[in-house]
Amino acid sequence: MRTSGPLRLIGQELARFTLPQDHAPRSPITTDCTACGACCAAPDIHALNKPLGVPCTHLGPDQGCGHLCATYATRPSVCRNYQPDWVCGEVAPLPTLNARTRRFLEIYGLQAD
Ligand code: SF4
Ligand code: SF4
Repeated sequence: MRTSGPLRLIGQELARFTLPQDHAPRSPITTDCTACGACCAAPDIHALNKPLGVPCTHLGPDQGCGHLCATYATRPSVCRNYQPDWVCGEVAPLPTLNARTRRFLEIYGLQAD
């Protein structure tokens, strides 16, 4: 995964990942995707049979901030349609994929199984 980001949360997933009402965004500036891998690891993605908090099987190794999608050319539409937003500013600067995943889940008030 790189460029515009892998995931767009739709239907049931969108409802689950709606930002809590009382949450104040702390990174209002949206930047380009840095391929940090958080949105390939944190959400549950039904199209990929991927559980919450578990990295997608197509996600490459953590190299600081620069994960690659091994199936980028044929990744599903849920990945193609995802757009970076302020959450990227919260998670991408963190040093490891585990830290980025934990922060992503924390923002949405979720815990991995
Ligand atoms: S969380 Fe944001 S910066 Fe990180 S891979 Fe996904 S879209 Fe890119
Ligand atoms: S297929 Fe997996 S690694 Fe590739 S963009 Fe989608 S979630 Fe990320």
